[in-house]
Amino acid sequence: MELNDFIRDVPDFPKPGIIFKDITTLLKDPDAFKEAVHQLCQPYRKQNIDQVVGIESRGFIFGGAMAMELDTGFIPMRKPGKLPAETEKEEYALEYGTDAIEVHRDAIQPEVKILVVDDLLATGGTAAASIRLVKKLGGSVIGAAFLIELCFLNGREKLGDVPVHTLIACESE
Ligand code: AMP
Repeated sequence: MELNDFIRDVPDFPKPGIIFKDITTLLKDPDAFKEAVHQLCQPYRKQNIDQVVGIESRGFIFGGAMAMELDTGFIPMRKPGKLPAETEKEEYALEYGTDAIEVHRDAIQPEVKILVVDDLLATGGTAAASIRLVKKLGGSVIGAAFLIELCFLNGREKLGDVPVHTLIACESE
């Protein structure tokens, strides 16, 4: 199955010049969704992952399903102000300004083995901040998995020594 055939390119969304990779067309196909989750889990089956960390919001969809398949817990990494209990925050640079993500402080215990998941790796800013946040709380990041990688943005360079697993590599815009 060619998973890339299930991704819809939407030009000029959310702003002119951006080609948005729409995954809803993959999600609504039961076989493609299942196959994507299965392949995303492949490298981690024997790695004794404790928790999957999903990045808001599309990382929740794949991360939640992967946690089921890998028999781990799931931890949401959220936009600021959404989590109700005490949080730890990490900021990251955008083209203009900064953004941030948060996680519950007690969600990650020292030494736990974490897999970070999102739908797409672009510049790597969001995933790099998520990895910093996990490490700040003492967690150990075993890997980072993404359905799609925009290779021309070199996002994986920002993730340092964390092994990266992606299924659909986009070499050009
Ligand atoms: P980045 O921090 O640049 O790696 O951006 C990654 C985040 O932005 C992910 O949560 C993606 O869902 C989203 N994103 C960035 N670029 C795109 C794109 N071209 N199509 C769809 N989502 C994108």
